[in-house]
Amino acid sequence: NNYLAKIKEYQRLNAFNEVFEQESLTQAAALDESLQKGQPAGRLAGMVIAIKDNICYKGHVVTASSKILDGFTSIFSSTVVERLLAEDAIIIGRCNCDEFAMGGANENSYFGPVKNQADETRVPGGSSGGSAVAVQAGMCHAAIGTDTGGSIRQPASFCGVVGLKPTYGRVSRHGIIAYASSFDQPGPITQSVEDAALLLEIIAGADDYDSTASRKPVEAYGAELAPSTGKRKIAYLQEVLDSEGLDAEVKQTLLAAIGSLKADGHTVEPVSFEYLDYVVPTYYILTMAEASSNLARYDGVHYGYRSPNAVDLTTTYKRSRSEGFGTEVKRRIMLGTFVLSAGYYDAYYAKAQKVRRLIKERTDAILAEYDFILTPTAPEPAFKIGREDIDPIVTYLEDIFTVQASLAGVPAISLPIQNNSAGLPLGLQLVTKAFAEADLLNFATYFV
Ligand code: GLN
Repeated sequence: NNYLAKIKEYQRLNAFNEVFEQESLTQAAALDESLQKGQPAGRLAGMVIAIKDNICYKGHVVTASSKILDGFTSIFSSTVVERLLAEDAIIIGRCNCDEFAMGGANENSYFGPVKNQADETRVPGGSSGGSAVAVQAGMCHAAIGTDTGGSIRQPASFCGVVGLKPTYGRVSRHGIIAYASSFDQPGPITQSVEDAALLLEIIAGADDYDSTASRKPVEAYGAELAPSTGKRKIAYLQEVLDSEGLDAEVKQTLLAAIGSLKADGHTVEPVSFEYLDYVVPTYYILTMAEASSNLARYDGVHYGYRSPNAVDLTTTYKRSRSEGFGTEVKRRIMLGTFVLSAGYYDAYYAKAQKVRRLIKERTDAILAEYDFILTPTAPEPAFKIGREDIDPIVTYLEDIFTVQASLAGVPAISLPIQNNSAGLPLGLQLVTKAFAEADLLNFATYFV
């Protein structure tokens, strides 16, 4: 009831595409009754969770904030949802996001932009903007978002909450609406590192429905977290510190963290990451290529929206897709199709795959020498709603610090460090080796 009241109070922030009001109350009452009877409680009993609206939940509408899926009902639940429910979590609703998770400001939603609670004239970040605001404003205990190139971490940073992108393959993608399949990962958005650890422990692990979900055993991430007592080696990237467009207060926050780590006896050193200028173009070429293929299924026949103006098969495809997809999604389908086309495949797609390998190898090499890489999550704090209209490239460049971990497939967490002089949250990102989430979460408690 508390969360439902908050959702009503903050309706103007537009964080939810749908609230499962009656159903969540029924779930809570049933749980209460079984607890009264002394039946054992799941590990998430009483935890009220919101899910990003690209995560399938049987019998519920799922839209990816797109007109093309408006009104489409899931006929099965994602593995993530199954695992939450099996531990008695209560799912309170589905959150607004960028259309098909394409964006970094939550302004590409068919259901309108989401507002940041810290300053309602500003964006919450994206694409999991609604999920981050739902946690920020106390409309739920925690949320599950998805991160392809920063969509959990960057909105967490803009909203002053914790956002964890697991190692690629740590969490099953079964039932997650695909954007770029070799990057997509679901993960928690929470108020605390402890909650992120507990949720990861529940949702992670092998899954017969997703062959890319790792069979590596899931560790007890949620067991008592504390920074390890030993001294650690942390790298920061010189090119990041020198990068153009890095906000002065964001830079100050990073330098202050480096200072306090050093003062506590940790080794913190600058490392050169010579590929920084290439991470954004490489990420966008590959994700657009994958998206153009993944989104081919929205043909006006199988799912969702069908144009009333269609008269035959060709116009069913053309008009349903022209009317059903938003501008940014169309831009990406066209660019993705272009980079995969026969004449340009080698110049763009194949080249980007090779550069991805170089970025991964260099990242792994840094992480072989250092325990963590520390960066700001984003180059600047939450910006004004509407700015994105100027030029999509400006928004793409916002992803410069988050896409390295996505290209390398390694885990990363965004931590709320402090507010800037205007009261806007600033976050720092910690990146570590594949499947080293336990160490990452433990060390994260150093900062928050
Ligand atoms: N901003 C990035 C993009 O638009 C990241 C999105 C995401 O992680 N889903 O692709």
